[in-house]
Amino acid sequence: MTVSDRALDILRTTFGHAEFRGPQREIVDHVSAGGDALVLMPTGGGKSLCYQIPALVRRGVAVVVSPLIALMQDQVAALTQLGVRAAFLNSTLDMEQARAVESAFSRGQLDLLYVAPERLTTPRCLDLIDRAQVALFAIDEAHCVSQWGHDFRPEYLQLSLLHEKFPSVPRIALTATADPQTREEIIQRLALGEARVFVSSFDRPNIRYTIVDKADARTQLLRFIRGEHDGDAGIVYCLSRRKVDETAHWLQGQGIAALPYHAGMDAASRNEHQARFQREDGIVVVATIAFGMGIDKPDVRFVAHLDLPKSVEGYYQETGRAGRDGLPANAWMAYGLGDVVQQRRMIEGSDAGEAYKRVASAKLDALLALCESVQCRRVQLLAYFGEPAEPCGNCDTCLEPPQTWDATEAARKALSTIYRTGQRFGVVHLIDVLRGRTSERLLRWDHHRLTVFGIGADTDDTQWRNVFRQLVALGYAEVDHEAYGALRLTESARPILRGEQQVQMRRSLETKAPKKVRGRSAAPAPAGAADEDLLARLKAWRLEEARRQAVPAYVILHDATLAAIAQSAPADLAGLSEISGIGQKRLERYGEAVLDVVRSARG
Ligand code: ADP
Ligand code: ZN
Repeated sequence: MTVSDRALDILRTTFGHAEFRGPQREIVDHVSAGGDALVLMPTGGGKSLCYQIPALVRRGVAVVVSPLIALMQDQVAALTQLGVRAAFLNSTLDMEQARAVESAFSRGQLDLLYVAPERLTTPRCLDLIDRAQVALFAIDEAHCVSQWGHDFRPEYLQLSLLHEKFPSVPRIALTATADPQTREEIIQRLALGEARVFVSSFDRPNIRYTIVDKADARTQLLRFIRGEHDGDAGIVYCLSRRKVDETAHWLQGQGIAALPYHAGMDAASRNEHQARFQREDGIVVVATIAFGMGIDKPDVRFVAHLDLPKSVEGYYQETGRAGRDGLPANAWMAYGLGDVVQQRRMIEGSDAGEAYKRVASAKLDALLALCESVQCRRVQLLAYFGEPAEPCGNCDTCLEPPQTWDATEAARKALSTIYRTGQRFGVVHLIDVLRGRTSERLLRWDHHRLTVFGIGADTDDTQWRNVFRQLVALGYAEVDHEAYGALRLTESARPILRGEQQVQMRRSLETKAPKKVRGRSAAPAPAGAADEDLLARLKAWRLEEARRQAVPAYVILHDATLAAIAQSAPADLAGLSEISGIGQKRLERYGEAVLDVVRSARG
């Protein structure tokens, strides 16, 4: 059997998948043959198999560097289920347990060993590796080596040592971070100049992108969850710890199984909330961006943003945590002027140097362009990563093309009001002036005597807020960071004020909920009530099995696999083995039990 045939055989019998996906086959063949590789693949693309299969094809033990303990543990649990000999070395093991793993490793009794980076580079560990036969080194989350990235880990810098000490062992570095700067930095810092680079499409076709105008964000969120994701697992991102706590508490009050997560909580409750999210069905975690890396849960059905992320990269990485199993999922965000003001203030107010502020500001602009876009969101997103695409039919702007309107007149009124009031006031005051409302503050400043007083009385507050938001997002006005939230004009405002330039704006879609993603829980639509009943029974069986083994439910069988079983209701083991996700070990281990459930549903 050729190496390539062996790889395919392992994919089928051990992992239970019929075919390689995208570039997996090429990568697996290349690494199995001893080549170095840098793999850039979006979250959910299937990176793990790219080193797990070569680990089984090649002689010796594969050493996998992974930055997060939770991730390691779940990977090892999942591999063990498949009959693969995997273990990890990290700080959760006591001395005796670590010794046992080390000895299994040196005696070649493992297929894969997961190691935390700080441990790998200790003399003890290097010595151990020196004495064992190593099949390959896999460096997961390789962007952690980048100092300008968002997850820099100083320990990762030491990993270039692997190449120096073990030049003949192939290395494969993997990441879901796509931008060219990070890629260059990985190649340079890990000495991967000779490696073949595999870049996959970054499209996540099963994720539906929706960005709504923020009105009452919480209520909008609740309507979204109730309408589309009743009982589903999801993540809600907020900017501040306080907002995380408040939102989680509020959702709980509405009967949603919500748990908070942020760096200000004590480690014990943080770990508990993360573990419950991983292990139980249908938990909604409300979190700051402290939550996410290392969350390898394939069946997260939605990611919601109540605040604006800092960049398109951030947005894409956070939303990418939805739907890794390939089933339909939602990325939903509520966005308003307050977000723009807040993000701009954070950039300006930071202690970082001018160069950093310029970069951060440009990144924010790119994200704002996405929010205000009247084109397909996916086309915009992929263009940002340098990938051409066609309108997708699975984002809000494709499904319900936003209307634009000629906002030239409104823009002139709004910009004049900023100018006439001395460029010192925030939106609330500016709208009071436009609508001709005499607040106390307005009278104090004599703003009822201005020519602009009341010139926008025919338009309501929401519409005006929209106009101001778009003026800022489009760069005609900016936020003054010295004066709390005050707006002032930019150079580009002039042609509009002089009547030389037209402005088109996106009409507000208000609080409209996105259309359903297909089926209540976004699982593949079952053909009828019988399937639904069977699916429920299968889930109940899986939950019990997961509890018994103390592993996450998806480690037993994925949602997609359960759905396929429910749909085809196989009568025997042969039928069951046809289903994607059922390999030999799973068939042996759960085949009869699953068939029993199928029979019980038939009555
Ligand atoms: P990543 O690490 O890139 O986020 P994973 O390796 O966790 O992605 O894989 C994502 C999901 O895709 C997993 O549920 C995995 O079982 C599934 N998967 C990977 N490769 C294949 C394949 N060739 N066929 C079917 N499913 C696959
Ligand atoms: Zn689209």
